[in-house]
Amino acid sequence: MNLNTPLKGLMGIGPSIAYRLSLLELNKVEDLIYHFPFRYDDFSNVSSVAEAKEGEVVTLAGEIWSIKNIYTRSRKVITQAIFNDGSGPIEVTWFNQSWLIKQIQVGDRLQVSGKIKRYKNKPSIMAPTWEKIGGGVLVLGEQLHTGRLVPVYPETEGLTSKWLRAKIAAILPQVSSEILDPIPETIKDGMLSLSQALSQVHFPQNYDQINQARDRLGFDELFFVQLATQKARLEWKQKPLVDPLKISPQDLKRFTDKLPFVLTKSQQKVVTEIVTDLKGSQPMNRLIQGEVGSGKTVVAAAIIYLVYKNGFNSLFMAPTEILAFQHHSTLTRLMEPFGIKVGIYTGSRKKMEDTQVIVGTHALLSDKLLSNQVGLVVVDEQQRFGVEQRSVLRNRAKIPHFLTMTATPIPRTVALTLYGDLDMSVIDELPIGRQKIKTYVVPGKKRQDAYGFIAKEIKQGGQAYIITPLIEQSETLQSVKAATVEFERLKTEVFPDLRLGLLHGRLKSKEKEEVLNAFKDHKLDILVSTSVVEVGVDVTNATIMVIESAERFGLAQLHQLRGRVGRGTKQSYALLFLGSEEPSLISRLKNLEKTDNGLELAELDLKIRGSGQIFGTAQSGRFEFKIASLSDLPLIEKTRSAARKILLEDPQLDKYPPLKAKLAQFTSGVMPD
Ligand code: ADP
Ligand code: MG
Repeated sequence: MNLNTPLKGLMGIGPSIAYRLSLLELNKVEDLIYHFPFRYDDFSNVSSVAEAKEGEVVTLAGEIWSIKNIYTRSRKVITQAIFNDGSGPIEVTWFNQSWLIKQIQVGDRLQVSGKIKRYKNKPSIMAPTWEKIGGGVLVLGEQLHTGRLVPVYPETEGLTSKWLRAKIAAILPQVSSEILDPIPETIKDGMLSLSQALSQVHFPQNYDQINQARDRLGFDELFFVQLATQKARLEWKQKPLVDPLKISPQDLKRFTDKLPFVLTKSQQKVVTEIVTDLKGSQPMNRLIQGEVGSGKTVVAAAIIYLVYKNGFNSLFMAPTEILAFQHHSTLTRLMEPFGIKVGIYTGSRKKMEDTQVIVGTHALLSDKLLSNQVGLVVVDEQQRFGVEQRSVLRNRAKIPHFLTMTATPIPRTVALTLYGDLDMSVIDELPIGRQKIKTYVVPGKKRQDAYGFIAKEIKQGGQAYIITPLIEQSETLQSVKAATVEFERLKTEVFPDLRLGLLHGRLKSKEKEEVLNAFKDHKLDILVSTSVVEVGVDVTNATIMVIESAERFGLAQLHQLRGRVGRGTKQSYALLFLGSEEPSLISRLKNLEKTDNGLELAELDLKIRGSGQIFGTAQSGRFEFKIASLSDLPLIEKTRSAARKILLEDPQLDKYPPLKAKLAQFTSGVMPD
């Protein structure tokens, strides 16, 4: 047996159990060993019947004197046993486990752990966990399920913690000699070895051991992200130098003079930072983070212009076709005064002959388009574009400058980790005249009023988005069906007098574009859509954003969705409809009423729901750590400096084969290409 051995087929794991394990994403031995407890039951208080007090959680060791099932009138089963540990008898009660009388016989020696309660006026130990003991002598540490700190695992139907615990206890010792520690001694800093940490996290003797184990395992989780990003950063910096671009303030002015507005201070600051990069001799590798509507596209356009003045072309990549079309029309408008031609390259449309700028989707980064004439690659909404994808650019003979943009607010701790290979610029100011979007969490009983309000706003010339519920993490047929059903309902029952359009990811791109254009041209009043409009769509006249089942989204994601409105000067509204009115969900959503600071909301998401939420649906799971938290600044700094230290000493990690191997495994498995 080794870490890669499939669980299916191991002792006691037939097809049906293997299937259940797969629901927990446990497919091979390594997965099981990395299935960590989420808490521990403290059953270390070994006591006796005579001493145990009501309300106490204790472990007792003794003999079964009698055991029987009692059936209640409501057809429930109570298993009742009398148990004696020498200091006296006590009743033991289990509920709805009728099979226990087959497993436990009179005369069996048992250890039970549970809470002492009065039941029918007699002291009783209720629903205890139990295990048989041999010999009769109780030795702490030999037991698995009682008499110690007992690990409790994420379970699924038919797979209990007790089962998982026993399996892990049986398997771990068989592979522990194979668990190589990838972390070199020089950066270990007194931490446990990996195999020690793994055994302690499952079967600790005390709380101290739990903490030590979690420290080590959490370190590993963040360390490999840091190592991957820091290594990418170093490699980027070591690449052959580029020829510095020539950029004068007059060039920039020529571009901004043609804009119908002045750049905000923040936009100017970011342009300056980028210009400094371009004038240097290393390829730029920079991320612009800026709230929805902060004007990132114009900044990118200014840079594209400056690059053009140096004789180079630019590629501009958007995450979806809809956005590619939109950016294409925006950039065409901005570049026209200078005679710069903008082409398009997507799955359904290709027109790029004799153009200096090409806007498109992923296909854009093919060798054919990425010629030496390309001096700049801009990627919008970068969270879908990982370290690995960036290596496409890095490995070219002539590296273009790279600029990526995101509206996702990135907490500092996250920036230091996941985007550690990038330099970062922040646009932290919206153009003047923007109004705060009034946001309301709308309970079910106010829904009709809200529809009335929407109809009224539309009569006065406004437009609205209605986002249908997120059914699955990605846009599946099911979500599309739900959107279609909701669309029909709204059209026939709620807004029969208004013009409604439907947008979802399964439409052909031509259909998508038609719907979106109709909405833009105000030939539609309401755009019913799945959350595909999340990023980048820009329709200034839209003033209402309705989000169904808002509780299913992260706060930062909702913030981005509501940013689709409030783009003009009119007062805009976000109405958050609910699929569940559970108070804790409502109070989470109320944060959106209170603040319009995207970063604050992202930090809240990080605290409440973990890192998956920050990266939206496509990415969740990718950076969901089991132990480490992306809000743990000390750990982030520790892992970052450890990664730097080791890379400084040995950039290729040739002196540390296990580390090198693990990093390769990490980048190929975690970061999809
Ligand atoms: P982002 O991509 O950051 O969400 P956009 O670049 O789409 O934002 O800009 C949003 C809107 O604001 C666009 O209509 C754009 O023309 C406008 N805009 C950008 N910068 C300014 C500015 N400095 N002053 C006024 N309007 C601006
Ligand atoms: Mg944008």
